[in-house]
Amino acid sequence: LNAIEVRSLVKTYAATGREPAKTALKGIDLDVPTGSIFGLLGPNGAGKSTFINILAGLVTKTSGSVRIWGFDQDVNPRQSRAAIGVVPQELNIDPFFTPFDLLEVQAGLYGVPKARRRSMEILTRVGLADKARAYPRTLSGGMRRRLLVAKAMVHEPAVLVLDEPTAGVDIELRQMMWDYVRELHAAGTTVILTTHYLEEAEAMCDRIAIINHGEVVACEETPSLLSRI
Ligand code: ADP
Ligand code: ADP
Repeated sequence: LNAIEVRSLVKTYAATGREPAKTALKGIDLDVPTGSIFGLLGPNGAGKSTFINILAGLVTKTSGSVRIWGFDQDVNPRQSRAAIGVVPQELNIDPFFTPFDLLEVQAGLYGVPKARRRSMEILTRVGLADKARAYPRTLSGGMRRRLLVAKAMVHEPAVLVLDEPTAGVDIELRQMMWDYVRELHAAGTTVILTTHYLEEAEAMCDRIAIINHGEVVACEETPSLLSRI
């Protein structure tokens, strides 16, 4: 079974005053098997963020189809959205929302039952229980990142997507993110992460897709991919 099935996915960004139109994804076919830790590897500008922003429902596709947990995005938008949680690359957090507020709002958006209890529970899971009422400016980079993971997981999605989870992160925090991702995976979550570090994909992922100039140029199990590089 596949957690994600993408067919002929095309994204063309419209031209603006300064920039011509840009086709960031040129007809992508990709399956992410349920239960995998799947790495999307590629250089800057390859189309990784565009791809996951489409999965997340944050960017509209130009054409093609996306199924998440069996739900077609166009046919069952609500169910397909409920099946996925996305941790963005940027650590932007509204300065007026405490971690607890942020999670409660998110839980409300997804209709999570017992939103307040669930919010506290997930904050505890990521080690932020004592920061539940703190203001975001008082949170370290590592704490913000953990908060955004908590936000993405509050509705217990089947699929967790992390956009460059360890970009600009020191070795200790990187180790912590890896441990946490493995823990979620062990608990049954299918994980997709983007990275431009081969070593990270190698260490974390059982399957890797390489994307370049908006095309998938390789997609296979990690050992077999590495044996060819
Ligand atoms: P990656 O995440 O692999 O670095 P992106 O998906 O961010 O790649 O970008 C793929 C291409 O699409 C790049 O050429 C980028 O400049 C372009 N692009 C990304 N976002 C936009 C946007 N909002 N408008 C126009 N072009 C964009
Ligand atoms: P914590 O206290 O939660 O471990 P810190 O704020 O001490 O987190 O950050 C850990 C490390 O993360 C810092 O040493 C810094 O190098 C690195 N870092 C820098 N920028 C970021 C970022 N945008 N996101 C996460 N970590 C970052």
